[in-house]
Amino acid sequence: GEPVLCIGCGARIQMADKTQPGYTPKSALEKGLETGELYCQRCFRLRHYNEIVPVGLTDDDFLRLLTQIRDANALIVYVVDIFDFNGSVIPGLHRFVGDNPILLVGNKEDLLPSSLKRSKLKDWLRQRANEQGIRPIDVSLLSAKTNHSVDQFLTKVDKYREGRDVYIVGVTNVGKSTLINQIIRQKTGEKEVITTSRFPGTTLDRIEIPLDEDHVLVDTPGIIHQSQMAHFLSGKDLKIVSPQKQIKPKVYQLNDQQTIFLAGVARFDYISGERHGFTVYVENNLPLHRTKLVNADAFYDKHVGDLLTPPDSAENNLPPLTRHEFKITEKSDLVFEGLGWISVPADTVVAGYAPEGVGVVVRKAMI
Ligand code: GDP
Repeated sequence: GEPVLCIGCGARIQMADKTQPGYTPKSALEKGLETGELYCQRCFRLRHYNEIVPVGLTDDDFLRLLTQIRDANALIVYVVDIFDFNGSVIPGLHRFVGDNPILLVGNKEDLLPSSLKRSKLKDWLRQRANEQGIRPIDVSLLSAKTNHSVDQFLTKVDKYREGRDVYIVGVTNVGKSTLINQIIRQKTGEKEVITTSRFPGTTLDRIEIPLDEDHVLVDTPGIIHQSQMAHFLSGKDLKIVSPQKQIKPKVYQLNDQQTIFLAGVARFDYISGERHGFTVYVENNLPLHRTKLVNADAFYDKHVGDLLTPPDSAENNLPPLTRHEFKITEKSDLVFEGLGWISVPADTVVAGYAPEGVGVVVRKAMI
C-alpha cells in the first residue's frame, strides 16, 4: 500500500533502524495512526522539547545542534519569515549562541507591500529580535524565492564571518532550504540540491557547503515550531492559506460587535470601540466573510467547509477554534501565526480565534 509518512518531516515511517529518518517505535506508530498525528520519533521529540526549556534533554539531534553552535566559532545566520515572525522564533536561541555574532535574515520580503520602507522594516525586525534577547550585528531583508537581495546578503556573510564557518539556523518553513539552494546555485551553478516543500522539516541532516578551502556553511536541521499552522492543515489547504505573492491589504470599516472570518481557519471579533478601519494582511485569495458577532457561532457551524474553506470539508482534522481576547492600547497587529495579521487601532477590545495550538498574539504594528 501507500507508504506511511511522518507529518513532521515527510520521512517514510519505519521501525527497523533507530538511526535512520522516519524511525518510530511500534507503540507510537499505533497511537499515531489512531489519532491521525503520526510523527517519527525524531520529530516527536523535537516538537516536545520545543515546548519546554531546551536544556538538559536527551534528544540526540537537538542537543548536538545546540552544542555544535555553542562550541563553534562561527557566524550564525538566523533566518526568519517576515510574514510569520512569531512562528519563526527559536525559543532560547540567545542562550546557546554563546559569543557568536548573529546575522538576522528576514526572508520572504517579496510578500510585503513594496510601499513599506525597507529601513523601517529592518528596524522593526531588530526590535522584535531584541525582545527575544537577541542582538544581531546586522539585518538582511531578502527573498530566497526571487533571489532579491541575496547578493547583498552574501556580501554581508563574507564581511562578518571573518574567516570562520557559518551556521544557518531557523525553524521549519521559513525558507531556509530555498535560501541555501540559492547560495549553492550562486556558488556552484547547480540547481535544486535540497528538496524544498511547504511541509515543515524537509531538511533531515546537517549539510555542508564549502565557502573556501577551510570553511563551510552548515545547514542545520529546521527546528519544528509546535504552533505552526502548517501542522494542522492538509497540503492542499496549506497551499491556499500560505501567501504566494505580494500581499494586497484589505481594509474593513467595522462597527463594534462585528466579526470577520478568515476562511474557516480563523476568526476576528471587534468587541468594543469606535467605528474604525481594520486592515487584513493574509493570502490574497483567502475568502473573508463579515457577519454580526451575535450570528457568528451559528454562521461558522453552518458554513465551515463550504463558504468558509479551507478547511476543505466540515469533517476535517482542524482542532476547534480557540478564543483569545485583547485590550488594545496602541496601534497593534493581531497575529494569527502562519496565516497573517489584522492591524488594530488603539482603544479597542478585540478577540482572535485560531485552531487550538496555533498562536494568536498581539505585537507592535509592523505597518
Ligand atoms: P525550510 O523548511 O525553512 O527549509 O523552508 P523551505 O525552503 O522548504 O520553504 C518553505 C516554503 O516557503 C516553500 O513553500 C517555499 O516555496 C516558500 N518560500 C521560501 N522562500 C520564500 C520567499 O522568499 N518568498 C516566498 N514568497 N516564499 C518562500
